[in-house]
Parts: sequence; C-alpha cells; structure tokens
Amino acid sequence: MALFVMGIDFGSTTGKAVILDGAGKVVGSSVASKGSVSDEGVQDAIAMALEQAGINIADVARTVSTGYGRRMLEIADASYTEITCHARGAVAMVPGARLVIDIGGQDSKVIAIDDNGLVAQFAMNDRCAAGTGKFLETLARAVQVPLNDMGPLAMTAKETLTISSMCATFAETEVISLLAEGHGKPDVLGAVHAAIASRTVGLVARVGSRTPMVMTGGVAQNVAAVHYIEKALGVTLLIPLNPQTAGAYGAALIALDEVSTARAAEETDPQREVDVPPVSCTAPRRARVRAEEHLLQRREKSPAL
Ligand code: ADP
Repeated sequence: MALFVMGIDFGSTTGKAVILDGAGKVVGSSVASKGSVSDEGVQDAIAMALEQAGINIADVARTVSTGYGRRMLEIADASYTEITCHARGAVAMVPGARLVIDIGGQDSKVIAIDDNGLVAQFAMNDRCAAGTGKFLETLARAVQVPLNDMGPLAMTAKETLTISSMCATFAETEVISLLAEGHGKPDVLGAVHAAIASRTVGLVARVGSRTPMVMTGGVAQNVAAVHYIEKALGVTLLIPLNPQTAGAYGAALIALDEVSTARAAEETDPQREVDVPPVSCTAPRRARVRAEEHLLQRREKSPAL
C-alpha cells in the first residue's frame, strides 16, 4: 500500500496542510483562511490537501501538527513546536540555509541553523503585533488598501517617511496623521514596511546574522516586506516557492522520518512491536524544545499576547 504522511500547521491566521508520499514528494498542499485560530480553516486546509493528493484521511499513515493551535488537533499523532517545524521545512525548501526569518500573522521568529541543518538558536516576538502580519493587516485597513495590494503599492513610494511607534495602535494613529498631512498612500505604506523591517533587524541581532538567509511565513509573500527587510539587513533573502507552508512541510517531513524509523526498526527485528512515540526528540535537543514550549505556553495562557 502506498505511504502518505501529513503535516498540519494550525496557525493563528491560516491553516496549512502538506501531504507527502513515501518518497517525500509533495502530493497535496493547501492554505485556508477562516479567521483567527479557526478550526474550520484548518479542516478546510486538510480537505483541500487530501483532495489534491487524491486520497482519503484513512490513507495517511501519520500526521504531525505544529502552529499556534497544534494541541487542538485530535487528528494529529504528534505535535512539534513551530521553531522545529519551520526550521525543518525552510532548510528542506532551501538547502544550505543558515538563518530563517518567519513572519506570520501573530508572531515573528528568527532561527539560526547549524552546520547540520538543525536549530542552533532562535528569537521570537509573540508579545505584540509589532513586526508581525497583524501589524501589516491593521495598517492596511488604516490606509484602506487590500492586504494583497499594500506591498506592490509600497514599492512605488518616492518619499521616505518614518513611523516611530512599534505599537500597532500608536502606529495607526501616526499613519492617519501622515495621510491627513497630505502624504500619499505609497509613501505612508513605505514607512509601514520600513517599521516592520526595523523590528526584524532587532530579532536577527539577537541570534546573529548569517547567510544564506531564508524568509518564510505569509508575510514573505509581501514584496515590500521582503524589500525593506533586505535593505535594512543588507542581504538578499531567499524566498521559497510556497513560503507560507514551510511549517506544515517541516511537520510532514518529521512524520515521514518517524514512519521510516519505525519501519526500519521493524525490518531489523520483526518480532519487536514498534510504536512510534507520540512526541519524540533527541536528548541534546530536549532543553531547547523545553525553552520553545515555555515560550509558546506563555503565549497560549495569555490571549492578549
Ligand atoms: P500564521 O501561521 O500565524 O497563521 P501565516 O504565516 O499564514 O500566519 O501569515 C499570515 C500573514 O501573512 C497575514 O497576517 C498577512 O499579513 C500575510 N499575508 C498572507 N498572504 C499575503 C499576501 N498575498 N500578500 C501580503 N501579505 C500576505
């Protein structure tokens, strides 16, 4: 019977699902948006990916979840932190990557990758909207420009303006003042993207700049966000084909590893009953995973963050 595994990223803004065949080829991939931490959104993403792969959920041998709502997914056999899954997915998408910048709907993270392609260090902003997709969404609304258009419009900016506040609420007030002073929308949006870039520079500084540098997450689809971050860091960012599904892809690769390990053990010792552990991580990685869990649990306990 053909082997399929699934990775699900239950994000704060969108649900993502990636299905791999036994050779690690992507046979289904989807992104669905139905509002904040939406179970409906993630279920839609799963249904779309299954349809694209032409299989049923019963055909999936193992499912790994990640993301903001990863523990809410009963369908998942195991769950891993966003840091682990995003790093895994980004490095598989861009082999040789040494730094991953992931900007999603509610958080932004920078992950340093070691020589073996594993997480060396990470820094995360999940305390406020500054430097996240939420910041861009709030300010797109203030400028009355659709989210998808804000990046291309910002790229036509002529005048350099500054938004000094990192807080989305105060930045919104600044944006309204700039518009009231007669500045054009492209220039104001240029300043909005420069503000998100300066926040990202701060996160990169916390782990140390390294190249090649990859950008993932939904915000990697915003051309101006990429441009202003590149300008602020003085580097060229590598953007994978589907940057928003990096976490789900990483989760699917982990699911495939686990199935392969279990099968290899079965072949070596057919008498042995192999049970893939619900959540497995190697000993040297345990301390880091605990730190990630701590960060993420703090966010989950504090809905305002
Ligand atoms: P999460 O995993 O937290 O749900 P995502 O990685 O899916 O977040 O990113 C969601 C964010 O991506 C949105 O807040 C939005 O700012 C941005 N985004 C998604 N698609 C686009 C697009 N086509 N153009 C500009 N920004 C986008």
